[in-house]
Amino acid sequence: MRLARAVRNLRSFERRFRQTRMIARAIKSRQHPILAHIIPIRRCNLSCAYCNEYDKVSSPVSLAEMQRRIDLLAALGTAIITFSGGEPLLHPELDEMIRGIRAHGMIATLITNGYLLTPDRIHRLNRAGLEHLQISVDNVQPDAVSTKSLKVLDKRLQWLAEHAEFDVNINSVLGAGVQNPEDALTITRRALELGFETTVGIVHDHSGQLQPLQDEEKAVYKQIQNERKPAFWAFAYDNLFHKNLALGQPNDWHCRAGSRYLYICEDGLVHYCSQQRGYPAIPLENYTHEDLDREYWTRKPCAPYCTISCVHRVAMIDLVREKPREALARFFPPTTPGAAARLPLGINVLSSIFLPPENGKPQNPIAKATAGVAMRLFGIK
Ligand code: SF4
Ligand code: SF4
Repeated sequence: MRLARAVRNLRSFERRFRQTRMIARAIKSRQHPILAHIIPIRRCNLSCAYCNEYDKVSSPVSLAEMQRRIDLLAALGTAIITFSGGEPLLHPELDEMIRGIRAHGMIATLITNGYLLTPDRIHRLNRAGLEHLQISVDNVQPDAVSTKSLKVLDKRLQWLAEHAEFDVNINSVLGAGVQNPEDALTITRRALELGFETTVGIVHDHSGQLQPLQDEEKAVYKQIQNERKPAFWAFAYDNLFHKNLALGQPNDWHCRAGSRYLYICEDGLVHYCSQQRGYPAIPLENYTHEDLDREYWTRKPCAPYCTISCVHRVAMIDLVREKPREALARFFPPTTPGAAARLPLGINVLSSIFLPPENGKPQNPIAKATAGVAMRLFGIK
Protein backbone atom coordinates (compact mmCIF):
# COMPACT_ATOMS: atom_id res chain seq x y z
CA MET A 1 0.00 0.00 0.00
CA ARG A 2 2.95 2.31 0.79
CA LEU A 3 4.41 1.77 -2.69
CA ALA A 4 1.07 2.53 -4.40
CA ARG A 5 0.69 5.67 -2.32
CA ALA A 6 4.21 6.79 -3.26
CA VAL A 7 3.54 6.19 -6.99
CA ARG A 8 0.22 8.02 -6.70
CA ASN A 9 1.88 10.97 -4.96
CA LEU A 10 4.63 11.11 -7.57
CA ARG A 11 2.14 11.10 -10.45
CA SER A 12 0.10 13.61 -8.51
CA PHE A 13 2.81 16.25 -9.04
CA GLU A 14 2.47 15.99 -12.79
CA ARG A 15 -1.32 16.03 -12.51
CA ARG A 16 -1.25 19.11 -10.24
CA PHE A 17 0.92 20.92 -12.78
CA ARG A 18 -1.51 20.07 -15.59
CA GLN A 19 -4.48 21.08 -13.43
CA THR A 20 -2.80 24.38 -12.57
CA ARG A 21 -2.20 25.05 -16.27
CA MET A 22 -5.85 24.19 -16.92
CA ILE A 23 -7.01 26.68 -14.25
CA ALA A 24 -4.61 29.32 -15.57
CA ARG A 25 -5.99 28.82 -19.10
CA ALA A 26 -9.56 29.02 -17.78
CA ILE A 27 -8.74 32.24 -15.92
CA LYS A 28 -7.20 33.71 -19.05
CA SER A 29 -10.15 32.97 -21.35
CA ARG A 30 -13.84 32.14 -20.93
CA GLN A 31 -14.19 30.92 -24.53
CA HIS A 32 -14.11 27.20 -23.74
CA PRO A 33 -15.81 24.70 -21.37
CA ILE A 34 -13.77 23.88 -18.27
CA LEU A 35 -15.62 20.68 -17.37
CA ALA A 36 -17.96 18.33 -19.25
CA HIS A 37 -19.83 15.41 -17.71
CA ILE A 38 -20.53 12.77 -20.30
CA ILE A 39 -22.82 9.75 -19.92
CA PRO A 40 -21.58 6.56 -21.64
CA ILE A 41 -24.48 4.49 -20.24
CA ARG A 42 -27.63 5.46 -18.34
CA ARG A 43 -28.04 2.04 -16.76
CA CYS A 44 -26.97 1.49 -13.16
CA ASN A 45 -26.40 -1.68 -11.15
CA LEU A 46 -27.79 0.06 -8.01
CA SER A 47 -31.07 1.84 -7.23
CA CYS A 48 -30.36 4.63 -4.71
CA ALA A 49 -33.69 6.04 -3.54
CA TYR A 50 -32.66 9.72 -3.93
CA CYS A 51 -31.31 9.29 -7.48
CA ASN A 52 -33.02 10.49 -10.66
CA GLU A 53 -30.09 9.79 -12.99
CA TYR A 54 -30.34 6.10 -13.87
CA ASP A 55 -32.46 3.41 -15.46
CA LYS A 56 -32.33 -0.37 -15.55
CA VAL A 57 -32.60 -0.98 -19.29
CA SER A 58 -30.32 1.27 -21.37
CA SER A 59 -27.61 -0.14 -23.60
CA PRO A 60 -24.12 1.39 -23.67
CA VAL A 61 -23.53 4.18 -26.19
CA SER A 62 -21.29 2.77 -28.96
CA LEU A 63 -17.55 3.40 -28.72
CA ALA A 64 -17.51 5.13 -32.12
CA GLU A 65 -20.24 7.54 -31.02
CA MET A 66 -18.51 8.24 -27.69
CA GLN A 67 -15.21 8.91 -29.49
CA ARG A 68 -17.05 11.31 -31.81
CA ARG A 69 -18.48 13.19 -28.80
CA ILE A 70 -15.05 13.31 -27.14
CA ASP A 71 -13.59 14.76 -30.37
CA LEU A 72 -16.38 17.38 -30.45
CA LEU A 73 -15.70 18.38 -26.85
CA ALA A 74 -11.98 18.65 -27.63
CA ALA A 75 -12.81 20.91 -30.60
CA LEU A 76 -14.74 23.22 -28.23
CA GLY A 77 -11.57 23.45 -26.10
CA THR A 78 -12.87 21.44 -23.11
CA ALA A 79 -10.28 20.97 -20.35
CA ILE A 80 -11.72 18.09 -18.27
CA ILE A 81 -14.09 15.26 -19.20
CA THR A 82 -15.74 13.26 -16.42
CA PHE A 83 -17.61 10.01 -17.03
CA SER A 84 -20.79 9.82 -15.02
CA GLY A 85 -23.96 7.77 -15.27
CA GLY A 86 -25.74 5.56 -14.49
CA GLU A 87 -22.67 3.50 -13.70
CA PRO A 88 -19.87 4.16 -16.22
CA LEU A 89 -17.96 0.97 -15.29
CA LEU A 90 -20.84 -0.98 -16.87
CA HIS A 91 -19.61 0.27 -20.25
CA PRO A 92 -17.38 -2.46 -21.75
CA GLU A 93 -15.15 0.02 -23.63
CA LEU A 94 -14.63 2.68 -21.00
CA ASP A 95 -10.82 2.33 -21.11
CA GLU A 96 -10.73 3.13 -24.83
CA MET A 97 -12.73 6.31 -24.16
CA ILE A 98 -10.31 7.34 -21.40
CA ARG A 99 -7.45 6.88 -23.88
CA GLY A 100 -9.38 9.02 -26.38
CA ILE A 101 -9.60 11.86 -23.85
CA ARG A 102 -5.92 11.66 -22.95
CA ALA A 103 -4.94 11.59 -26.65
CA HIS A 104 -6.44 15.09 -26.90
CA GLY A 105 -4.45 16.27 -23.86
CA MET A 106 -7.62 16.66 -21.76
CA ILE A 107 -7.94 15.51 -18.13
CA ALA A 108 -9.89 12.22 -17.75
CA THR A 109 -11.90 11.58 -14.60
CA LEU A 110 -14.57 9.12 -13.46
CA ILE A 111 -17.47 9.09 -11.00
CA THR A 112 -18.43 5.54 -10.01
CA ASN A 113 -20.32 3.72 -7.28
CA GLY A 114 -17.25 1.47 -6.95
CA TYR A 115 -19.13 -1.86 -6.91
CA LEU A 116 -17.37 -3.19 -10.03
CA LEU A 117 -13.82 -2.33 -8.95
CA THR A 118 -11.33 -5.19 -8.61
CA PRO A 119 -7.51 -5.07 -8.51
CA ASP A 120 -7.44 -6.02 -12.21
CA ARG A 121 -10.02 -3.33 -13.12
CA ILE A 122 -7.97 -0.71 -11.22
CA HIS A 123 -4.79 -1.71 -13.11
CA ARG A 124 -6.66 -1.37 -16.39
CA LEU A 125 -7.79 2.12 -15.42
CA ASN A 126 -4.14 2.93 -14.56
CA ARG A 127 -3.01 1.75 -17.99
CA ALA A 128 -5.78 3.68 -19.77
CA GLY A 129 -4.52 6.89 -18.16
CA LEU A 130 -7.34 7.74 -15.74
CA GLU A 131 -6.35 10.73 -13.61
CA HIS A 132 -9.04 11.04 -10.96
CA LEU A 133 -11.80 8.84 -9.56
CA GLN A 134 -14.60 9.77 -7.17
CA ILE A 135 -16.81 7.46 -5.15
CA SER A 136 -19.68 8.69 -3.05
CA VAL A 137 -20.05 6.56 0.09
CA ASP A 138 -23.48 7.27 1.53
CA ASN A 139 -23.56 5.37 4.83
CA VAL A 140 -21.69 2.89 7.02
CA GLN A 141 -24.31 0.11 6.80
CA PRO A 142 -26.53 -0.32 3.73
CA ASP A 143 -30.12 0.86 4.22
CA ALA A 144 -33.31 1.29 2.21
CA VAL A 145 -32.06 4.57 0.71
CA SER A 146 -28.60 3.50 -0.43
CA THR A 147 -26.34 0.45 -0.52
CA LYS A 148 -23.23 2.53 -1.32
CA SER A 149 -22.03 1.78 2.18
CA LEU A 150 -18.62 1.58 3.81
CA LYS A 151 -19.41 -2.02 4.80
CA VAL A 152 -19.79 -3.06 1.15
CA LEU A 153 -17.15 -0.76 -0.33
CA ASP A 154 -14.33 -0.88 2.20
CA LYS A 155 -12.57 -3.78 0.43
CA ARG A 156 -12.73 -1.79 -2.86
CA LEU A 157 -11.27 1.24 -1.10
CA GLN A 158 -8.40 -0.90 0.19
CA TRP A 159 -7.77 -2.14 -3.36
CA LEU A 160 -7.73 1.44 -4.58
CA ALA A 161 -5.23 2.36 -1.87
CA GLU A 162 -3.06 -0.61 -2.91
CA HIS A 163 -3.23 -0.31 -6.69
CA ALA A 164 -4.55 3.05 -7.98
CA GLU A 165 -2.05 5.38 -9.61
CA PHE A 166 -4.74 8.04 -10.11
CA ASP A 167 -6.09 10.43 -7.48
CA VAL A 168 -9.05 9.13 -5.47
CA ASN A 169 -11.67 11.26 -3.76
CA ILE A 170 -14.19 9.82 -1.31
CA ASN A 171 -17.32 11.91 -1.01
CA SER A 172 -19.50 11.45 2.05
CA VAL A 173 -22.96 12.97 2.22
CA LEU A 174 -25.20 14.87 4.58
CA GLY A 175 -28.75 16.09 4.09
CA ALA A 176 -31.99 14.77 2.61
CA GLY A 177 -32.53 11.07 3.28
CA VAL A 178 -29.27 10.42 5.18
CA GLN A 179 -30.35 8.55 8.33
CA ASN A 180 -27.13 8.67 10.41
CA PRO A 181 -25.18 11.92 10.01
CA GLU A 182 -22.31 10.46 12.10
CA ASP A 183 -21.64 8.07 9.22
CA ALA A 184 -20.18 10.93 7.16
CA LEU A 185 -17.51 11.43 9.83
CA THR A 186 -16.67 7.71 9.98
CA ILE A 187 -16.35 7.60 6.17
CA THR A 188 -14.16 10.72 6.08
CA ARG A 189 -11.83 9.28 8.74
CA ARG A 190 -11.51 5.99 6.86
CA ALA A 191 -10.75 7.81 3.58
CA LEU A 192 -8.08 9.97 5.24
CA GLU A 193 -6.58 6.85 6.82
CA LEU A 194 -6.27 5.27 3.35
CA GLY A 195 -4.57 8.40 1.98
CA PHE A 196 -7.43 9.68 -0.19
CA GLU A 197 -8.82 13.16 -0.78
CA THR A 198 -12.22 13.75 0.84
CA THR A 199 -15.21 15.95 0.25
CA VAL A 200 -18.59 16.12 1.92
CA GLY A 201 -21.63 16.78 -0.23
CA ILE A 202 -24.98 18.14 0.84
CA VAL A 203 -27.52 15.90 -0.85
CA HIS A 204 -30.26 17.46 -2.93
CA ASP A 205 -33.77 16.08 -3.04
CA HIS A 206 -35.47 14.55 -6.09
CA SER A 207 -35.91 17.99 -7.69
CA GLY A 208 -32.20 18.80 -7.28
CA GLN A 209 -32.87 21.39 -4.59
CA LEU A 210 -31.61 21.92 -1.08
CA GLN A 211 -32.86 20.56 2.23
CA PRO A 212 -31.33 22.56 5.15
CA LEU A 213 -29.15 20.57 7.56
CA GLN A 214 -30.48 19.74 11.03
CA ASP A 215 -28.45 20.66 14.15
CA GLU A 216 -26.82 17.23 14.48
CA GLU A 217 -25.84 17.31 10.80
CA LYS A 218 -24.32 20.79 11.18
CA ALA A 219 -22.22 19.57 14.12
CA VAL A 220 -20.95 16.61 12.07
CA TYR A 221 -20.19 18.90 9.15
CA LYS A 222 -18.12 21.17 11.38
CA GLN A 223 -16.20 18.23 12.85
CA ILE A 224 -15.44 16.90 9.35
CA GLN A 225 -14.09 20.29 8.30
CA ASN A 226 -11.85 20.35 11.39
CA GLU A 227 -10.42 16.92 10.65
CA ARG A 228 -9.91 17.10 6.89
CA LYS A 229 -8.21 20.52 7.04
CA PRO A 230 -9.27 21.63 3.55
CA ALA A 231 -6.60 23.19 1.33
CA PHE A 232 -6.98 26.57 -0.39
CA TRP A 233 -9.57 25.77 -3.06
CA ALA A 234 -11.71 23.52 -0.81
CA PHE A 235 -11.50 26.06 2.03
CA ALA A 236 -12.64 28.83 -0.32
CA TYR A 237 -15.46 26.60 -1.61
CA ASP A 238 -16.74 26.05 1.92
CA ASN A 239 -16.80 29.78 2.60
CA LEU A 240 -18.43 30.65 -0.68
CA PHE A 241 -21.06 27.91 -1.01
CA HIS A 242 -21.19 25.24 1.67
CA LYS A 243 -21.69 27.46 4.69
CA ASN A 244 -24.91 28.87 3.24
CA LEU A 245 -26.12 25.50 1.99
CA ALA A 246 -25.62 24.00 5.45
CA LEU A 247 -27.86 26.74 6.86
CA GLY A 248 -30.43 26.31 4.11
CA GLN A 249 -29.70 29.82 2.85
CA PRO A 250 -29.46 30.91 -0.81
CA ASN A 251 -26.13 31.48 -2.52
CA ASP A 252 -25.36 34.59 -4.56
CA TRP A 253 -23.51 33.30 -7.63
CA HIS A 254 -23.74 33.10 -11.40
CA CYS A 255 -24.20 29.55 -12.73
CA ARG A 256 -22.25 29.15 -15.99
CA ALA A 257 -23.79 25.79 -16.95
CA GLY A 258 -24.17 25.41 -20.71
CA SER A 259 -20.94 27.34 -21.16
CA ARG A 260 -18.13 26.54 -18.74
CA TYR A 261 -19.83 23.33 -17.60
CA LEU A 262 -21.65 20.96 -20.00
CA TYR A 263 -23.70 17.85 -19.31
CA ILE A 264 -23.84 15.50 -22.30
CA CYS A 265 -26.57 12.89 -21.95
CA GLU A 266 -26.58 9.41 -23.49
CA ASP A 267 -28.43 10.83 -26.53
CA GLY A 268 -25.63 13.31 -27.21
CA LEU A 269 -27.61 16.40 -26.18
CA VAL A 270 -26.06 19.27 -24.21
CA HIS A 271 -27.96 20.10 -21.00
CA TYR A 272 -27.21 22.51 -18.15
CA CYS A 273 -26.65 19.73 -15.61
CA SER A 274 -28.05 16.42 -14.35
CA GLN A 275 -30.88 18.23 -12.54
CA GLN A 276 -31.81 20.58 -15.40
CA ARG A 277 -31.99 18.18 -18.30
CA GLY A 278 -34.02 19.57 -21.20
CA TYR A 279 -32.26 22.97 -21.23
CA PRO A 280 -30.95 23.85 -23.78
CA ALA A 281 -30.96 20.22 -25.09
CA ILE A 282 -29.01 21.01 -28.28
CA PRO A 283 -27.15 18.17 -30.06
CA LEU A 284 -23.43 18.39 -29.24
CA GLU A 285 -22.50 18.50 -32.94
CA ASN A 286 -24.58 21.69 -33.32
CA TYR A 287 -23.25 23.34 -30.17
CA THR A 288 -21.16 26.36 -31.07
CA HIS A 289 -19.18 29.12 -29.40
CA GLU A 290 -22.31 31.27 -29.81
CA ASP A 291 -24.18 28.82 -27.55
CA LEU A 292 -21.31 28.87 -25.05
CA ASP A 293 -21.40 32.67 -25.03
CA ARG A 294 -25.20 32.90 -24.61
CA GLU A 295 -25.28 30.42 -21.73
CA TYR A 296 -22.37 32.11 -19.99
CA TRP A 297 -24.65 35.09 -19.40
CA THR A 298 -28.01 33.28 -18.94
CA ARG A 299 -29.30 33.57 -15.36
CA LYS A 300 -30.59 30.24 -14.06
CA PRO A 301 -33.52 30.59 -11.62
CA CYS A 302 -32.48 27.38 -9.82
CA ALA A 303 -29.06 28.84 -8.85
CA PRO A 304 -29.69 30.15 -5.29
CA TYR A 305 -30.43 26.73 -3.78
CA CYS A 306 -28.41 24.60 -6.22
CA THR A 307 -26.27 21.85 -4.63
CA ILE A 308 -24.24 20.80 -7.68
CA SER A 309 -20.74 21.34 -6.36
CA CYS A 310 -18.81 20.76 -9.59
CA VAL A 311 -20.70 23.64 -11.26
CA HIS A 312 -20.07 25.84 -8.20
CA ARG A 313 -16.33 25.11 -8.45
CA VAL A 314 -16.26 26.02 -12.14
CA ALA A 315 -18.03 29.31 -11.32
CA MET A 316 -15.31 30.10 -8.76
CA ILE A 317 -12.72 30.19 -11.56
CA ASP A 318 -14.77 32.77 -13.46
CA LEU A 319 -15.27 34.83 -10.32
CA VAL A 320 -11.47 34.95 -9.94
CA ARG A 321 -11.12 35.89 -13.62
CA GLU A 322 -13.74 38.66 -13.55
CA LYS A 323 -13.38 40.12 -10.05
CA PRO A 324 -10.16 38.79 -8.46
CA ARG A 325 -10.18 41.04 -5.41
CA GLU A 326 -13.87 40.43 -4.69
CA ALA A 327 -13.26 36.70 -5.15
CA LEU A 328 -10.44 36.68 -2.59
CA ALA A 329 -12.52 38.69 -0.13
CA ARG A 330 -15.37 36.19 -0.48
CA PHE A 331 -13.05 33.15 -0.28
CA PHE A 332 -11.42 34.42 2.92
CA PRO A 333 -14.03 36.55 4.71
CA PRO A 334 -13.15 38.33 7.97
CA THR A 335 -13.74 36.27 11.08
CA THR A 336 -15.48 39.22 12.79
CA PRO A 337 -18.02 41.48 11.01
CA GLY A 338 -16.53 44.77 9.76
CA ALA A 339 -12.88 43.58 10.02
CA ALA A 340 -10.62 43.31 6.96
CA ALA A 341 -10.39 39.99 5.09
CA ARG A 342 -7.46 37.86 6.37
CA LEU A 343 -5.71 36.29 3.40
CA PRO A 344 -3.33 33.36 4.02
CA LEU A 345 0.32 34.39 3.54
CA GLY A 346 0.77 32.46 0.26
CA ILE A 347 -2.35 34.02 -1.28
CA ASN A 348 -1.18 37.47 -0.16
CA VAL A 349 2.14 36.95 -1.94
CA LEU A 350 0.50 35.60 -5.10
CA SER A 351 -2.04 38.42 -5.28
CA SER A 352 0.68 41.05 -4.85
CA ILE A 353 2.51 39.46 -7.81
CA PHE A 354 -0.40 38.81 -10.16
CA LEU A 355 -2.97 41.51 -9.36
CA PRO A 356 -2.44 45.13 -10.39
CA PRO A 357 -2.06 47.49 -7.39
CA GLU A 358 -5.41 48.69 -6.02
CA ASN A 359 -4.38 52.35 -5.90
CA GLY A 360 -3.72 52.57 -9.66
CA LYS A 361 0.08 52.93 -9.21
CA PRO A 362 2.34 51.06 -11.69
CA GLN A 363 3.18 47.48 -10.70
CA ASN A 364 6.48 46.85 -8.88
CA PRO A 365 8.98 45.78 -11.65
CA ILE A 366 10.13 42.66 -9.72
CA ALA A 367 6.53 41.51 -9.26
CA LYS A 368 5.84 42.21 -12.94
CA ALA A 369 8.86 40.13 -14.08
CA THR A 370 7.95 37.27 -11.68
CA ALA A 371 4.38 37.25 -12.99
CA GLY A 372 5.69 37.07 -16.58
CA VAL A 373 7.87 34.04 -15.82
CA ALA A 374 5.06 32.26 -13.97
CA MET A 375 2.59 32.91 -16.79
CA ARG A 376 4.99 31.52 -19.38
CA LEU A 377 5.56 28.45 -17.18
CA PHE A 378 1.81 27.76 -17.04
CA GLY A 379 1.37 28.46 -20.75
CA ILE A 380 -0.88 31.50 -20.42
CA LYS A 381 1.36 34.00 -22.15
S1 SF4 B 1 -25.10 4.45 -7.87
FE1 SF4 B 1 -25.17 6.57 -8.62
S2 SF4 B 1 -26.26 6.48 -10.59
FE2 SF4 B 1 -26.59 4.52 -9.55
S3 SF4 B 1 -28.58 4.79 -8.53
FE3 SF4 B 1 -26.96 5.31 -7.04
S4 SF4 B 1 -26.65 7.54 -7.22
FE4 SF4 B 1 -27.80 6.84 -9.04
S1 SF4 C 1 -27.95 26.41 -10.90
FE1 SF4 C 1 -26.93 25.57 -12.70
S2 SF4 C 1 -25.96 23.69 -11.98
FE2 SF4 C 1 -27.45 24.28 -10.44
S3 SF4 C 1 -29.31 23.15 -10.93
FE3 SF4 C 1 -29.45 25.14 -11.94
S4 SF4 C 1 -28.61 24.87 -14.00
FE4 SF4 C 1 -27.97 23.11 -12.76
